[in-house]
Amino acid sequence: MPKGSFRGGVHPPENKERTATLRTVVARRPSQVAIALHQGSNCPLTPTVAKGDYVRMGQKVADTDEKWGVPAHSPVSGKVVSIGLVRTASGVEDQAIFIEPDGEDALDESCVPVDNVFSRSPEEIIRIIRDAGIVGMGGAEFPTHIKLSLPPGANVDTLLLNGAECEPCLTADHRLMVERPRDIIRGAQIMMRAIGVSRTLIGIEDNKPDAIRAMGDAASSAAGVEVVAVKTRYPQGSEKHLIKSVLGREVPPGGLPFTVGVVVSNVGTCAAVSNRFDRGLPLIERIVTVTGSAVAKPANLVAKIGTSASDLIEECGGFVGQPGKIVFGGPMMGMAVSSVDVPIGKGTSGILVMSREESEDLKEMPCIKCGQCVDACPMRLEPVFLHQWSNAGLWDEAEAYHAMDCIECGVCTYVCPSRRNLVQAIKRAKFEISARRRAAKERGSK
Ligand code: SF4
Ligand code: SF4
Repeated sequence: MPKGSFRGGVHPPENKERTATLRTVVARRPSQVAIALHQGSNCPLTPTVAKGDYVRMGQKVADTDEKWGVPAHSPVSGKVVSIGLVRTASGVEDQAIFIEPDGEDALDESCVPVDNVFSRSPEEIIRIIRDAGIVGMGGAEFPTHIKLSLPPGANVDTLLLNGAECEPCLTADHRLMVERPRDIIRGAQIMMRAIGVSRTLIGIEDNKPDAIRAMGDAASSAAGVEVVAVKTRYPQGSEKHLIKSVLGREVPPGGLPFTVGVVVSNVGTCAAVSNRFDRGLPLIERIVTVTGSAVAKPANLVAKIGTSASDLIEECGGFVGQPGKIVFGGPMMGMAVSSVDVPIGKGTSGILVMSREESEDLKEMPCIKCGQCVDACPMRLEPVFLHQWSNAGLWDEAEAYHAMDCIECGVCTYVCPSRRNLVQAIKRAKFEISARRRAAKERGSK
């Protein structure tokens, strides 16, 4: 039975039929990979290799001493040809390590499975996860070792696996759940040991009956693991909304899931944990859905981290007609990229290639005060006012109207009949408020 939903949200056209039934295919080896030295946590990494070095597949190539950072590993064996700038999905130029594969995929000697997993301490398991470069694979790239390192006194009783994949067009998690359910559950069991819980719930939207069946079959022989079908409604995959739908618990504004007894992990992240412990592999590849009306043969590709979008699009038969917009991620929360040379990262779940007609920027019209953005906001915010405060530079007002609680889901922009780019303005307000908070903290510490 589908369980609960949440207030607000929308049900946009799913557009998943292009790839939902296509088995994952291992992508061709790229001619070059670019490993960016900024990960999602924003901790810059320092290369541990130099130009001209030979590296093996799975070898660490960059690391940091920062608590929130995780290392990066080479997804191929080959030669470091340069360390220089690359344009990333966020639009900025970043330092990256460029590696040319030698075609051997010679595995690094550090890549050995972990034995006696369940007799290891939680701290040891968390350290192994950190050293494997594992981050949240749902998009945000939040470091998994930080998520699993609960503060003293935290009273967590449930690991909640996020298999919602509510973004239209994307099917990477869907195919993973259908094809590798046992690996996901194995990774979940390792995480359960790390956080000391005996229950895992797996939330999956009810538009994926085959994934619900596959995960349910695999869970039937795993103690304490259960699948919960939830309604198909965007943004069901937001942590706070999935917790509400599956467990009926509300994470307070500004709070984190552990404050209501939950740790949430994407299903892809669990499979990455299993890859490390059972196959010895750090996080060096992921499933990417390459789709959209302007790509010839959409597919779910298992791609090496650092492969360029152009390589993956070419493998899918290239463009159909003139592409309008290329988006890393889905149409609701994805980021439009300015070049096909952008490399995929650990959180790139999809590459969406839109036609020119679909990409036309519609002209913003005046607000007609219909209130639809307020009704639809799943965080119960008032986007119409946040947009006003942001455009006027009134950051105190935006903060007072809880701009920082915005999850940037894009629902308000989607429903606005006047095509007002509400989420863009709210993102700007969040950026300014964060900068002001940082400055105030620095002043206070002097
Ligand atoms: S204000 Fe933020 S949370 Fe609310 S609908 Fe808009 S983007 Fe989503
Ligand atoms: S949905 Fe658009 S037009 Fe309606 S109140 Fe919100 S901003 Fe104004």
